Amino acid sequence: MTVAAQFSDLYGYAPDGVWAAPGRVNLIGEYTDFNEGFVMPLALPHTAVAAVARREDGVLRLHSADLDAPVAELRVDALEPLSKYGQGGWAAYPAGVVWALRDAGHAVTGADVHLASTVPTGAGLSSSAALEVVTAYALNDLFGLGLSGPELAVLAQRAENVFVGVPCGVMDQMASACATEGHALHLDCRDLSVRQVPFDLAAQGLQLLVVDTRVKHELGDGAYAERRAGCEEGARLLGVTHLRDVPYADLDDALARIERSGADEKVVRYVRHIVSDDHRVEQVIGLLDAGEARAIGPVLYDGHRSLRDDLRISCPELDLVVDTARSAGAVGARMTGGGFGGSALVLVETTDADAVTKSILTAFETAAFTPPRVFPAVPSTGARRLPVS
Ligand code: ADP
Ligand code: MG
Repeated sequence: MTVAAQFSDLYGYAPDGVWAAPGRVNLIGEYTDFNEGFVMPLALPHTAVAAVARREDGVLRLHSADLDAPVAELRVDALEPLSKYGQGGWAAYPAGVVWALRDAGHAVTGADVHLASTVPTGAGLSSSAALEVVTAYALNDLFGLGLSGPELAVLAQRAENVFVGVPCGVMDQMASACATEGHALHLDCRDLSVRQVPFDLAAQGLQLLVVDTRVKHELGDGAYAERRAGCEEGARLLGVTHLRDVPYADLDDALARIERSGADEKVVRYVRHIVSDDHRVEQVIGLLDAGEARAIGPVLYDGHRSLRDDLRISCPELDLVVDTARSAGAVGARMTGGGFGGSALVLVETTDADAVTKSILTAFETAAFTPPRVFPAVPSTGARRLPVS
C-alpha cells in the first residue's frame, strides 16, 4: 500500500500531497561543519516519504508506518522545546519542524502527517534529517511559505538542535534538501553556499558502497561535545573564530603554537584533523572536477587515518571495513558520519564490488561481529514533491 493510501486508511480522508526527502552519506569532510568548514555529502536513494494534509484548527497529528506507536496528537501552540516530544520520542523531529517554522513567524496552523522511511535509522545516514526535511517541504508547500531549500534546511536543523536537543551541524539537512542526482554537494558551512560537483562514478567504472556496520557504541554523545569543545579551544588559542580560518599551509605552525600553549594534546590532534580534512575536501573537489575520480581513493584512506588517530572517533568495526577493503584492493575507504559505529564508505572498481563486499562480510564473520549491510551509494535527488498515487 502506498503512503498516501495508508494515510487515507489511518485518518479517513485523502492527503493533500506526498513529499520525499532522502538520507545522505558524507563523502569527505567530517566534524568540519561546526568549524564553519567544508563538507561534501551526497543524497541516497533511501527516502522518508510523508503524506500530509493541512489543518486550520491548531491540531498536529503525527504517525510513522515504521514504528509500533499510536498517532501522536499535539497542539501547535503548545509545542515546547525539550518537552516530552523532545526526549527520545520520534515525533519530536516533525513536531520540532512545526515549532521552528512557527517560531520563525510562519503561520502553520496544523497538519495530519503519516510517513514511512527507507533510510536505516541510527546508521549515520541521517534518517532524522530526512524526517525533518520532508516535513518542512510539505508544510512549505501546503502553507505557501515560499522558503528556499537552504532556508528549510536551517529551520530543520534548528528543530533538531533546539526542540529535540541534538547538537548537529547543518550538513544533514542541507544534503537532504539540496542534493541533486549524479552529484555530490560541496557545502561551505560558513555561508551555506553550495555547488553541485559532478559525481557520476558509473561512467568511470567505479562504485561507491555504503557498509552499515549496524553497531552504535555508546560514548557517542559525550564524545561529540568533547571534540566540539576541543575545536573551540583550538580556535581560541589560534586567535580565529573558527578552525576554518587556519590555512592548511600554516598547519604545522599552528600546531606548534598550540603545543607551546600547554593545551591538552588532544587539542593538537583535533585541530590537525579539522584543518587537514577541510584540505581533503578541496583535494577531492579538484580531482572530481578534473575527471579523476579514482584519484580520490588515497584521500579517503587518509581521511580515515585522521578520524581514527587524530579525532579518535572510529571503532573496531569501522576499522575492519577499511582495512579489509584496502587488502581486497578497494580504491579507497573511510568511516563516514559521527563515528563510534554507523557506516563506512568503500570506493571500488565496479568489477571488484562483489569480491570486496564478500571480503568484508567474511572478515566480519571471522571477527564474530554483527553482519554489516552493504549497498551502493547512488548519488540521488534531494527533497521533492511526489505525484500522489
Ligand atoms: P540517524 O539520523 O543517524 O539515522 P538519529 O539518532 O539522529 O540517527 O535519528 C534516528 C531517530 O529518528 C530514530 O530514533 C527515530 O526517533 C527517528 N526516526 C528515523 N526514521 C524514522 C521513521 N521511519 N519513523 C519514525 N521515527 C524515525
Ligand atoms: Mg540524525
